[in-house]
Amino acid sequence: MIQPNHHFIELPGSYLFSEISKRVAHYKQNNPSASVISLGIGDVTQPLIPSVIEALHSAVDDQANQETFHGYGPERGYAFLRETIATRYYGALDIPIDPEEIFIGDGAKSDIGNIGDIFSSEARVAVCDPVYPVYVDTNVMAGRAGRQRVNGLWDRIVYLTCTEENNFCPDLPDDESPVPDLIYLCFPNNPTGAVLSYEGLKKWVDYARENHSIILFDAAYEVFITDPVPHSIYEIEGARSCAIEFYSFSKRAGFTGLRLGFTVIPKELETAGIPVAQLWNRRQTTKFNGASYLTQRAGAAVFSEQGQAEMRQVIQYYQMNARLIRDGLRASGLQVYGGQNAPYIWLKVPDDRSSWEFFDWLLDRAQVVGTPGSGFGPSGEGYFRLTAFGSFEQTVQAMERIQALFQSSH
Ligand SMILES: *Cc1c(COP(=O)(O)O)cnc(C)c1O
Repeated sequence: MIQPNHHFIELPGSYLFSEISKRVAHYKQNNPSASVISLGIGDVTQPLIPSVIEALHSAVDDQANQETFHGYGPERGYAFLRETIATRYYGALDIPIDPEEIFIGDGAKSDIGNIGDIFSSEARVAVCDPVYPVYVDTNVMAGRAGRQRVNGLWDRIVYLTCTEENNFCPDLPDDESPVPDLIYLCFPNNPTGAVLSYEGLKKWVDYARENHSIILFDAAYEVFITDPVPHSIYEIEGARSCAIEFYSFSKRAGFTGLRLGFTVIPKELETAGIPVAQLWNRRQTTKFNGASYLTQRAGAAVFSEQGQAEMRQVIQYYQMNARLIRDGLRASGLQVYGGQNAPYIWLKVPDDRSSWEFFDWLLDRAQVVGTPGSGFGPSGEGYFRLTAFGSFEQTVQAMERIQALFQSSH
């Protein structure tokens, strides 16, 4: 009998968002007239910018004529997009990236999930706790995680605890911990909204170079940065020989439904003497046939002058929501993190309640849905995530309810 990949069976079901929908559905059933506002899931709500829509229309027209029709594109992505990214994005940051070092994909999640294909199944992995679950689950599937302990953590994964004590910025592994080969870092962070300073990120680059580890740097929320902190890991000296960067158009330009991202692998980056880019190229040309011509045209439009200006306005809209949430929670006497350089607000649950107790309480008393921090890992217990991706009107309403609730209960 054919056996499944047994690592999939070890992997528990995706509990967090299904449990949230179950509790919300149950609440709505018992309270049919309640208007529930969700500030829970990390998806955007604003439509695509006009420059993108225009580029999409014109790319559709290209496909209607024999002279301008595009079939299979280059597996790494069209040169027009890779050059645009190299000059308009990295160029603006003063980072020399060759278009040949850029691989276009259909979103950061795929590339982050697939990158493990090119590394040994024995590789040691380090992740932050709390964490974006994709980093952990894809390594469980690949057999790198070992066994799951009763606390939910996996015994072959090195967890980097992120709490108030370290301002949600991971400390280097201590001497007792095995040296990780692959280190996942995501800053600005989902779920905590924390950022790493130049020194904070340099510490990791130095560590990776000393120990021949590779950093997998997820820059999905780069566009939300307002403080002087690194946008790209390649702003740090030495990162070219130890880091891969993942970039997404999803949060930057509302492409969650269109699907586009890219991965940067510098020429200097090697594993056991083999260029990592060569391995990734081999992987991609075998298993991936490229992002669509339409979305790549749309992606290039994001970096046009007009596109950048339009995109800024949408980002400012979400930043306004983030500020509203942060200020509103603070005015209610809550301890609040994030929201300054990220669309996520990470609040400390008051009165020693658990994340899920707070979830139920907030749903019941304010009809507002957020995400329990414990769903991102044990160190998220006692925290709660709200997102700035809702509409302005709904965000205002949610904050009015939360503030009224805290006034009445204190
Ligand atoms: C949303 C998100 C992504 C982006 O995924 P896409 O596949 O590009 O939509 C990547 N990393 C993190 C941490 C995210 O929250």
